[in-house]
Amino acid sequence: MSDNLKSLPLVFEPPRGRGKPPRHLADLTAEERTEVVTSLGEPAFRGKQVAAHYFSRLERDPAGMTDLPASSRDKIVEALLPPLLTSVRTMEADKGTTRKTLWRLFDNALVESVLMRYPDRATICVSSQAGCGMACPFCATGQGGLERNMSTAEIVDQVVDAAGAMARGDVAGGPGRLSNVVFMGMGEPMANYKAVIGAVRRMVAPNPDGLGLSARNIVVSTVGLVPRMKQLATEGIPVTLALSLHAPDDELRNELVPINTRWSVNETVEAAWEYATLTGRRVSIEYAMMRDINDQAWRADLLADVLLSFGGGTDRPGSWVHVNLIPLNPTPGSKWTASRREDEREFVRRLEAKGISTTVRDTRGSDIDGACGQLAAADG
Ligand code: SAH
Repeated sequence: MSDNLKSLPLVFEPPRGRGKPPRHLADLTAEERTEVVTSLGEPAFRGKQVAAHYFSRLERDPAGMTDLPASSRDKIVEALLPPLLTSVRTMEADKGTTRKTLWRLFDNALVESVLMRYPDRATICVSSQAGCGMACPFCATGQGGLERNMSTAEIVDQVVDAAGAMARGDVAGGPGRLSNVVFMGMGEPMANYKAVIGAVRRMVAPNPDGLGLSARNIVVSTVGLVPRMKQLATEGIPVTLALSLHAPDDELRNELVPINTRWSVNETVEAAWEYATLTGRRVSIEYAMMRDINDQAWRADLLADVLLSFGGGTDRPGSWVHVNLIPLNPTPGSKWTASRREDEREFVRRLEAKGISTTVRDTRGSDIDGACGQLAAADG
């Protein structure tokens, strides 16, 4: 075969990142679903019927929806149930209790999600964008730039897949229930606000219109897009907000989280505090511990002071916030590495001494590049 021929793809692959993902029932509210089915000449109850298959029975495959009459099946499947995520590869770690899936989207864009089962809960970490435009230098996803936003249904389908896997007992530990969702996969959720809020609404809507998850078990994690954080506080859905701070001072944060040059540490933390005040939900501050970069004792003191400067006027000014330290996970080409144990311990001690509750995150899946900041969706 000539070299020319060899380089031709064997299967036609549409170019990446063109056009919009097909509409799916998870993009729509219950009313919109009814409108679609009636416009197809179908009885209104079919909208609820397919929603119940999807959200209550966690059936993503139209072939499993056997009560759809043959006469209407094809048009309903075409209008409401296009395939959105095709599994390319699944990797397991932690004795099968952590599962990372690489998904191919309709336009060949690739994203990943990670399901983590704990004794008391099961959490799916979802992607909200293919790639990410925030360019944080320690995060693998940030290195490739943004490919495109995901649709509401593409986000929800990751959750429904995980909920189905749990319900069927496909995850080590037997049948169980998916309880938590974290927007900590690929992408910056607040940069894809409309689709993310739509997805959250489907997650909290009761069965059969949605998944019936508790808003407090949903974590939206952001680099700190201040106007969007303020908007999120007004939605009336008390999701948990996580702010990826990583440094208490602008000089270092400008480098670690480049969007900080647009909204400073002070503006960002203020928006987080407003969120806590308006929603009554404690905000989580994410802080990836990088050896000799952001893990000095003086930075722990400064972090506590910055956080305490907003909680004034109460006996417990630190009670609006919780700090979650994440041991840095290695990423290709990054010069940074995780903190020493003793520096980590001192950092925790100083925060707690100032009345800031602090935990060190148990990181799952680092051996399958499934941990925070390692999702790069390489195919191969
Ligand atoms: N864009 C959002 C959500 C995705 S990242 C955000 O930044 O919050 C989810 C969390 O993983 C964030 O707190 C992020 O800063 C952190 N993270 C990224 N790279 C990491 C790494 N290499 N090690 C540990 N945590 C990392």
